[in-house]
Amino acid sequence: MEKNTYAVIGLGRFGGSICKELGKEGMEVLAVDVSEEKVNEYKEIASHAVIADSTDENALKDLGFRNINHVIVAIGDNIQASMLTTLILKELGIKQITVKAQSDYHEKILYKIGADEVVHPERDMGKRIAHSIISSNILDYLELSDEHSVVEVKAGDKMHAKTLIELDIRAKFGCNVVAIKRGRDINVSPMAHDEIDREDILIVIGSDKDIHRFEKELVIED
Ligand code: ADP
Repeated sequence: MEKNTYAVIGLGRFGGSICKELGKEGMEVLAVDVSEEKVNEYKEIASHAVIADSTDENALKDLGFRNINHVIVAIGDNIQASMLTTLILKELGIKQITVKAQSDYHEKILYKIGADEVVHPERDMGKRIAHSIISSNILDYLELSDEHSVVEVKAGDKMHAKTLIELDIRAKFGCNVVAIKRGRDINVSPMAHDEIDREDILIVIGSDKDIHRFEKELVIED
């Protein structure tokens, strides 16, 4: 199998952090930015770091983008540049194009142009933080689709010393407890009669509406 090669365009906070992680994992990464200062910052981190404007098709061709499998477009505020870059990459035949979007509208257009994956790091992080602000018992929140999510919650006093049968989460709220973490142990097929401890961490999956009702009733302390 040929080795995966990556390019990151735009070395702001998001693109920069992707570049660093890929580098740490020992991946081949080409880092691109219009700013010389940014590029210098990544000389030691990426396999190659070059100054280029990604809206210039010839510049991308000269850099050998055709041979790259996966390109991450992490241009911040300049929506026009991010769209034009995506379009050029698509035309160059890049197999996997991931683009950071600014807004839902931007996301829609990116998919239309042919982006394979659109990410919304600020929006997603905002949602996760909002949930953890609502209750210190909500530990993490991950969106699966527009309507479904997974939450990680601390059992707390409301669920302490009760079994899943007693709590009747599936029937009452329509969501499923898929795993229970206790210290370092994780039980991926919790039984109806297992007793929950207040320190246990429950992984719950369901529609946003159902998760919201579950959180309101059993997670958020009065
Ligand atoms: P973040 O919100 O992730 O920190 P920024 O907006 O700070 O994103 O960073 C985006 C980066 O993208 C900047 O370093 C900027 O120089 C770079 N950039 C913007 N337009 C282009 C372009 N046409 N070609 C290459 N890099 C670009």
